[in-house]
Amino acid sequence: MRIGFIGLGNMGGPMAGNLVKAGHAVRGFDLVPASLDRLAAAGGTRAADAAAAVAGAEAVVTMLPAGAEVRHVYEGEGGLLAAAPRGALLIDCSTIDVATARSVALLAAGRGFDMLDAPVSGGTAGAAAASLTFMVGGSDAAFARAEPVLQSMGKTIIHAGPSGNGQAAKICNNLILGISMIAVSEAFALADRLGLDRQKLFEVSAKSSGQCWSLTSYCPVPGPVPAAPSNRDYAPGFTAAMMLKDLKLAQAAAQATDSPSPLGAGAAALYQMLANSGLSAKDFSVIARFLANGAASTSH
Ligand code: NAD
Repeated sequence: MRIGFIGLGNMGGPMAGNLVKAGHAVRGFDLVPASLDRLAAAGGTRAADAAAAVAGAEAVVTMLPAGAEVRHVYEGEGGLLAAAPRGALLIDCSTIDVATARSVALLAAGRGFDMLDAPVSGGTAGAAAASLTFMVGGSDAAFARAEPVLQSMGKTIIHAGPSGNGQAAKICNNLILGISMIAVSEAFALADRLGLDRQKLFEVSAKSSGQCWSLTSYCPVPGPVPAAPSNRDYAPGFTAAMMLKDLKLAQAAAQATDSPSPLGAGAAALYQMLANSGLSAKDFSVIARFLANGAASTSH
């Protein structure tokens, strides 16, 4: 397939590379010239702007920071809705707010495009290994068209419903993740003060009702899970800044729908404190060290 790819950053760069590996002809654009060099080295073609990247494309993939950039790239002057060939399939893989995803998709449909929101989980390692999970919102027909493209970049591809539902699935999942990571971190801080060995708490909870991914796959204290970022000074992984972004999106969605989210609000506030203390670039599991050090004044 001829694929235009806009946004070749930490995630988009390796994702575009995997499309090339799968045999697609990829033409890409990013504001950062070094990203274009990486695409060219991987076998893709650099474009001078977004419009040039999508000229003649059968599918367009975008991987941008947030809703404002997505609006700009699709709806701005010379944007994708004006420049993409009629009938091209549009796939936005960025994590953005549900309302923007639905509004851009509606505008795209009005211009005759099939558009999907297809945010991912799996991080930069998953992007490099083509093992991402895609959560997809849009029509059945658009999903069927997109599956072969998404399969070149990921392993698990789930159709979550109509437009915006991919984003909804992503922020609901990360709401669970943010809260559960804090819960596990609080439990280890308490265990330390009670004189309970960390490894013993791990062994007990891994086999008990406290078991969860934050504990058994990504343990936020060093020791029990060797591959977890806690064992390498919280090098990411998934940054605290990204978690804060997703928790804020979840809170905005909860407010917009009058959905109760008291623990989500607390989690967002804690990650904001963590960010204010200069730890945004660390893995989000650094919240365990932050809490254990007594850095969060809300801990009592
Ligand atoms: P990034 O900042 O590394 O990449 C975004 C890229 O978009 C940058 O290279 C930037 O130059 C480019 N860009 C911005 N505006 C542009 C424009 N107008 N035209 C062309 N290019 C433009 O971010 P990332 O880590 O690759 O994340 C991308 C998206 O994926 C975000 O929405 C993020 O929330 C989501 N995400 C990231 C991770 C992760 O672990 N990094 C995991 C899951 C989801």
